[in-house]
Amino acid sequence: MTTTAPETLTEYQLFIDGRFVPSSDGSTYESEDPYTCASWARIADGTTADVDRAVDAARRALSGEWGRMPGKERARLMRRLADIVERESGALADVETRDNGKPFRDANAQVAYVADWLRYFAGHADKIEGRAFSDAHPNFFAYTVRQPVGVVGAILPWNAPLILLAFKLAPALAAGCTFVAKPSEFTPASALALAACVEEAGFPPGVFNVVAGSSRAVGAHLVAHHGVDKVAFTGSTATGIAVAQAALGHLAAVTLELGGKSPQLVFADADLDQATNGLIAGVFAASGQFCTAGSRILVHRDVHDELAQRLRSRAEQIRIGDPRDPEIDLGPISTGPQYARVAELLNSAAAEGAGVPKSGGVAPEVGRYFVRPTVLTDVTLSMQVMREEIFGPVVGLIPFDTEDEAVAMANDTPYGLAAGIWTRDVRRSHRVADRLQAGTVWVNAYRTNSPGVPFGGMKASGLGRENGQEALDSYLETKSVWIELADESRDPFRIG
Ligand code: NAD
Repeated sequence: MTTTAPETLTEYQLFIDGRFVPSSDGSTYESEDPYTCASWARIADGTTADVDRAVDAARRALSGEWGRMPGKERARLMRRLADIVERESGALADVETRDNGKPFRDANAQVAYVADWLRYFAGHADKIEGRAFSDAHPNFFAYTVRQPVGVVGAILPWNAPLILLAFKLAPALAAGCTFVAKPSEFTPASALALAACVEEAGFPPGVFNVVAGSSRAVGAHLVAHHGVDKVAFTGSTATGIAVAQAALGHLAAVTLELGGKSPQLVFADADLDQATNGLIAGVFAASGQFCTAGSRILVHRDVHDELAQRLRSRAEQIRIGDPRDPEIDLGPISTGPQYARVAELLNSAAAEGAGVPKSGGVAPEVGRYFVRPTVLTDVTLSMQVMREEIFGPVVGLIPFDTEDEAVAMANDTPYGLAAGIWTRDVRRSHRVADRLQAGTVWVNAYRTNSPGVPFGGMKASGLGRENGQEALDSYLETKSVWIELADESRDPFRIG
């Protein structure tokens, strides 16, 4: 990463056991602003020893004040944290924009989500209930209690650092778990900035810890750590598989939110104005760097040419540049390696015969990591750009003739994260939604989320769900308690 004058860098330390601390060996690394391509922050470079310290602190917190705290008190702290996040939203969004290159107005909306997620799950914290079984067995009464799964190790990606942290942290705190976050090496700052809010909210030490680190060994150590009871991971499918194997090596629970190659199906009866706007949101927002990006547009042949023309002319109006400028729609690609990957996929598309418009492609005149929104035509499902996750502002259109063909093409991918359907026919929308292999299906909409609605992937897109009751359940263990009601002794050699 590039280095600027050291005195201009903002300093961030690790957050372990309720205190900001340097890394165990005193080392630091610099985090790059992808717009200026210069370092803007100096980050304490966590080590495996720091992971050990954080996990130990999280274990102590579980058996200390936090472990004994009633749900309504946890909820009170979570609501206080939500208020502080809201108060600090401008500063937090600014950190996200600097580290990730996300336009400030999108970053600001995502910080508001963090407060929403905390408040939603705070409402669950004092409503964690078991069941009673008065007739489970003659002369027995049985009941269940739900207890926190324990210490959570959360591994985060760079594309939406704060909101993806909130997806995990909010249900984990509601359940009574403690938490060790390992942010992406590319975007460590916002999790550490959030830690200052956690400290101010007054959570007991060790409940929330952040260990940033430039080495992937830090995350690997956390997920393999025997003191971690659950691993919550968001990232690529390849890393997710390695993470799951390491977590299962010590029988930790795992949720995985992974990659996608999501289809958007546009039927001939769709409202093309609405569809054009939604398709743009579904693939160009955040420069296409979101896991549900709808990068495969499957469109009925009758409206293919018109839709391609509308999308290209709308794409040309998208304003790209400094993400801090409120007039800007798209910032840079967030990291150098990701920029190289998008550029490589664009080259492969051209080499395989795709139609790449002159208005699309890389934009070095705007900045080193910039790519213009690009609508590819003449693509096929076998092209690399239509099979692999792009994570950039690039989309391809493929025509279809029948509903069956559209569904078959939509499902022809190893992934199963999300899909969009654009039609005015309500019966078709239900029919097609039912047949799509995707964890989320939007109809005449895209890229909406809510803390109460489960989110996650089928097939190679993940395991388990975040958000909603399903998320809360994944941070709880169920314990069954049996109570003998009869006074007499039983035959000890017969199952009772
Ligand atoms: P990545 O898999 O390269 O890294 C993710 C995180 O894992 C980073 O913090 C990294 O340091 C850590 N890591 C790397 N190796 C590890 C190991 N062996 N053990 C433990 N941790 C390890 O992914 P990325 O490039 O940061 O993020 C982009 C990917 O994330 C895309 O594929 C995208 O689709 C996916 N994503 C999915 C969702 C979702 O909810 N489904 C959301 C956002 C991003």
